[in-house]
Amino acid sequence: MKGRWTLHCRYARCIDTLGTPLFILSDIRTAIIRHAVATQPNEGCGLLGDDGDSDTITRHVIVPSADPSPVRFTMEPYAQLNAHHQIEQHGGRWRAIWHSHPTSAAYPSPTDRAQSLNWAGIVAIIVSLAQPEPVIRAFSIIGGREVVEHPLRWVQHPLP
Ligand SMILES: [Zn+2]
Repeated sequence: MKGRWTLHCRYARCIDTLGTPLFILSDIRTAIIRHAVATQPNEGCGLLGDDGDSDTITRHVIVPSADPSPVRFTMEPYAQLNAHHQIEQHGGRWRAIWHSHPTSAAYPSPTDRAQSLNWAGIVAIIVSLAQPEPVIRAFSIIGGREVVEHPLRWVQHPLP
């Protein structure tokens, strides 16, 4: 029952905050782009969370791919578990998952929409390297279909 309640709570939280700005430490932006570039031509990925005291995303853990590919990402299971542990220790909350699109736009692909059913209530952040300058956008994907964008706000310090 506890697990069901948690899932419901996360989903409700997502609905409450649909389309609202997502605040992320600017250092994390740098780290995401660096890893996305390093894993080209394949997709890179990682998990993001807050510290439990603020809604600002302050925690980032890169997760290696179990099956490197230019068109999809598959997180290595043990590394993914470890990333969850790193984010959620000391009260942090898992908030977002990011991956890169080496040659396509920063928008959820049909594969991304289908995969999002595995992480309801978690924001999908996509970094595109298709242009000379990286583009990062964030989305809630509802029921594997509807896409709602969250404006990203890069900040130097966590907001209260
Ligand atoms: Zn994708």
